[in-house]
Amino acid sequence: MEAQESNGRGRSRGKRYVYSFGGGKADGNAGLNWLLGGKGANLAEMAGLGLPVPAGMTISTEVCTYYYAHGRTYPTELEKQVQTGLSRIEKVMKRRFGDPKNPLLLSVRSGARVSMPGMMDTVLNLGLNDETVLGLIKQSGNPRFAYDCYRRFVQMYGDVVLGLKPESKTERDPFEVLLEHKKEARGITLDTDLTTDDLRELVAAFKGLIQDRLHVSFPNDPWEQLWGAVGAVFGSWNNQRAITYRKIENIPGEWGTAVTVQSMVFGNLGDDCATGVAFTRDLATGEEALNGDFLVNAQGEDVVAGIRTPQQITLAASRQRAVRESHSEEERKAQYPSLEERMPANYTTLQEIAQTLEAHYRDAQDIEFTIEREKLWMLQTRTAKRTAASAVKIAVDMAQEGLIDERTAVLRVKPEQLDQLLHPMLDPNAPKQRLTRGLPASPGAVSGEVVFSADDAEEAKHAGRKVILVRIETSPEDIHGMHAAEGILTARGGASSHAALVSRGMGKCAVVGCEALEIDYERQEFRVRGAEGVLRAGEWITLDGSTGEVFRGQVPTREPSPTAEFTTFMAWADRFRRLRVRANADTPHDAQVARTFGAEGIGLCRTEHMFFDGERIDAVREMILAEDTAGRVRALDKIIPMQKEDFIGILRAMAGLPVTIRLLDPPLHEFLPNTEEDLVDLAQKLNVPVERLRTKRNALHELNPMLGHRGCRLGVTFPEIYEAQTRAIMEAACELTREGVHVIPEIMVPLVGFKRELDLLRERIVRVCTEVIHAQGVTVPYTIGTMIEVPRAALVADTIAATAEFFSFGTNDLTQMALGISRDDAGKFLPEYVAQGIFPQDPFVSLDQSGVGLLVELAVRKGRVARPDLKIGICGEHGGDPASVQFCHQASLDYVSCSPYRVPIARLAAAHAALREKPPVKTRRAPRRKQAEPVQAAATA
Ligand code: ADP
Ligand code: MG
Ligand code: MG
Repeated sequence: MEAQESNGRGRSRGKRYVYSFGGGKADGNAGLNWLLGGKGANLAEMAGLGLPVPAGMTISTEVCTYYYAHGRTYPTELEKQVQTGLSRIEKVMKRRFGDPKNPLLLSVRSGARVSMPGMMDTVLNLGLNDETVLGLIKQSGNPRFAYDCYRRFVQMYGDVVLGLKPESKTERDPFEVLLEHKKEARGITLDTDLTTDDLRELVAAFKGLIQDRLHVSFPNDPWEQLWGAVGAVFGSWNNQRAITYRKIENIPGEWGTAVTVQSMVFGNLGDDCATGVAFTRDLATGEEALNGDFLVNAQGEDVVAGIRTPQQITLAASRQRAVRESHSEEERKAQYPSLEERMPANYTTLQEIAQTLEAHYRDAQDIEFTIEREKLWMLQTRTAKRTAASAVKIAVDMAQEGLIDERTAVLRVKPEQLDQLLHPMLDPNAPKQRLTRGLPASPGAVSGEVVFSADDAEEAKHAGRKVILVRIETSPEDIHGMHAAEGILTARGGASSHAALVSRGMGKCAVVGCEALEIDYERQEFRVRGAEGVLRAGEWITLDGSTGEVFRGQVPTREPSPTAEFTTFMAWADRFRRLRVRANADTPHDAQVARTFGAEGIGLCRTEHMFFDGERIDAVREMILAEDTAGRVRALDKIIPMQKEDFIGILRAMAGLPVTIRLLDPPLHEFLPNTEEDLVDLAQKLNVPVERLRTKRNALHELNPMLGHRGCRLGVTFPEIYEAQTRAIMEAACELTREGVHVIPEIMVPLVGFKRELDLLRERIVRVCTEVIHAQGVTVPYTIGTMIEVPRAALVADTIAATAEFFSFGTNDLTQMALGISRDDAGKFLPEYVAQGIFPQDPFVSLDQSGVGLLVELAVRKGRVARPDLKIGICGEHGGDPASVQFCHQASLDYVSCSPYRVPIARLAAAHAALREKPPVKTRRAPRRKQAEPVQAAATA
């Protein structure tokens, strides 16, 4: 995409790189987020809406692209356009950049198409030097404030632009060290107690530090400062933490960042000033209530960084905190009164703006604001990151409020996100030892070993351990560790802290602002104030992200119970989807769980799992080791009554719904004893010589078992196995039918590659079924079909469909065989293949659409030509992967089948696939959908 030239105004010639906003006007809007970044686009949108936004301009992402493509240089037109943009800001603000009498100060901010909180750099108070600082004193009448800004600016510029950072892991930020020394020397603890002189001296000390360490002088020229900061922001697109974040969130590196240059407003001018972050709804629960945090007399990242624990925006939240921390009403009022009490007029304005923004964007917003001498300024708005529970609730609420329609609501929740809701919660009846309680920032119930650094978390994760990352607060540097951890626990910070924000975005359980935690990184331990004992790295704790509670040890969990909103939401999703969703389930219990998650049948019931159970394995082994047919039949006679019981349980649990039962599939040796000890044991039980068993076991050994004697090949060579299984299925079906239970068995033959294989087996299966039905004297409708998992079967699907009444794509084996990659051995090279971009994703997780997908499409086409009413599904692991579900929808399969816990994910993915389909097709199912309207794009910000 190309930016349109000069936005149709025809004033400047050449390409437009700079977009102004402010003074009630804006060149851009929210739709240009790909060009202006989310931040710049939304600032323009807010300015256009007439909201109070400090004037500014955004340098587009195209400049970022140019910058990297041309050895970190800018297009020639840029300088002129920036100068013009700056003059406009000067005009609106009635101040001049670099003017020693009345200086304009700027913030230089990063902003990518999607928000990457804290991943890139921002510089505040730009334009200050020894002359302009005097102008700032004149403007504000407050020398202390002016030097506070100057001190912050030199520090930020030194860090972000000049790159003065700690040189080792253990070194503390050198600027902070100087600041600390100053406070010690003055015998104070708070930044706010530093005098004007202290701050002036710190500015000099900071500049000296820069000179000593970097051998450069701090730039005094405001224009040099500006271009330095712009370059640093573009440069920060490729800093390590931004790259890591993009990798985790799947954000393309080509997008680039925009740079927004904006006039400063000051939250640090005194006690009638503040800075804060607000959310239009509760992003942990979805509750419809403005909330958030603020700090009086503060600037910039003070709130998010968790340096001081901020105050609450609403009185209600402030009171809740007082209850949590056992403070009296007096203590609360003295220590952390809400914005609602402290600055009521600003609070009302904030509320109104929040409402305006929600109504405008039709989605929950995450807002940054600053109050300068009782005037509220908007500094940012974006679509708020939220937990799955709140995503569902907000979508349902907004549809019911009439803000969005139901199809938009359904599209607002990512299928993968639901995973979070389907996970277990802490068992309320389990004994628990509570350590402390913090803010419930992101729900979930997780246990893990305590670690104290992001690197330790990552290392432990690689070693296969589960960890909880425990930090005083988190920062963007911790992102990889947060990703690796099961959950996050912090001592400081509110609902808008970095830890809370990022965890919600990642769908990770988090408890933040646990004031009672005393963390000692050095000793690798923490204690809880007022409680006995310490917890060391490696000890287990459990977090409850819904209540904010922290427990010692590993607390048992139980199944979650769906909320009313979830049920409503899923009902909406079901109305839009065409694909049916079944579950892979081998036991009555799994079948029951699958049904409660909305499964519409079983797509794969594996019979071999039943063979492993308890005592049965002995009978199975007896069958395998039998010398002849008679011996096998004798053993099978012991197994079949047990299998019949299983089938009765499963068919009953799935009454009224189809159940696809796969006949025995794995190579027989999988059932045999592995160890010598087990072999001796079995010989005794079966009363045969060990030697005979050993010979038999060795005879069954295969070099390539997955391509060996398995699947229908067992059925062909040992007819009695499939016959016995069929008998068990049909007897179960007949008995239930007599009881009045509606059963729909589908008998599935695995690993077929040739029509003749299936013909042969089908004939035997039909014979047994007919026999049983006759003997039982009832009618049971049943079908016989096959898995399509050998590539040859896909190629000759028309011939196979002449015999098969249904196809089920076994995409695990189909992928193995089509790619020639053994899934069980791929671990050694597959990650490397993904890392080097040979595979876009793990093909065993997300279907290889351009390869294996062709086999699927071919088989569907050929199969339906031979048998127009052929029922087609998929039962590989891919059935629960949203991208693969979308593919199955497009390939016009009838259903997908996945693990019971992923059924809601597949239902939602199927709805998304149908809703995204262009042009809308008439569907067989979804009777309530008359004519599909175009899908309303969700506001991206
Ligand atoms: P991030 O992308 O990390 O959120 P921002 O560009 O939003 O970075 O800047 C961080 C903070 O700096 C903002 O939340 C705000 O408090 C402060 N800030 C940015 N621009 C201005 C400005 N023009 N005036 C006052 N404060 C600002
Ligand atoms: Mg930042
Ligand atoms: Mg921000």
